[in-house]
Amino acid sequence: MADIKSPEDRSRNMRAIRSKDTKPEVYLRKLLFAQGLRYRKNVQKLPGCPDIYFARYQTAVFVHGCFWHRHPGCKYAYMPKSRTEFWQQKFDANTRRDESVHEELKTMGIRYLVVWECTLREMKKDQDKERSIIAFILSYLKGTESSSNPL
Ligand SMILES: [Zn+2]
Repeated sequence: MADIKSPEDRSRNMRAIRSKDTKPEVYLRKLLFAQGLRYRKNVQKLPGCPDIYFARYQTAVFVHGCFWHRHPGCKYAYMPKSRTEFWQQKFDANTRRDESVHEELKTMGIRYLVVWECTLREMKKDQDKERSIIAFILSYLKGTESSSNPL
């Protein structure tokens, strides 16, 4: 059977395959959606391609993996035992990229929040924690707080 997909279709498919809809993000989005919040996902035209973007509040939310984005003091941000130098360079590059993304967003007048994956893990296990984090995100969105308290 002939492949009748256009190149555009195909690249859309490829994008879908390496979709950013990994579980922690989906979980967080569902909670926020249930609060009546509406957002866009994986906004490619914004710096860092935020996982969640609230246009109404001009606020971006990033769900960061603790290992790749080096969550300070987190047990998941461990250093692999071999090829330490290779990893260190990779981590430094990621950290620098995150910092420049945050700077760009600030310049654009867009606030941002970082939600660490380990926080989401805890939220899944603990309803009180889940409620309090969602409450924090809501007040951040609706308030004028500009500091980007990482969660
Ligand atoms: Zn962490």
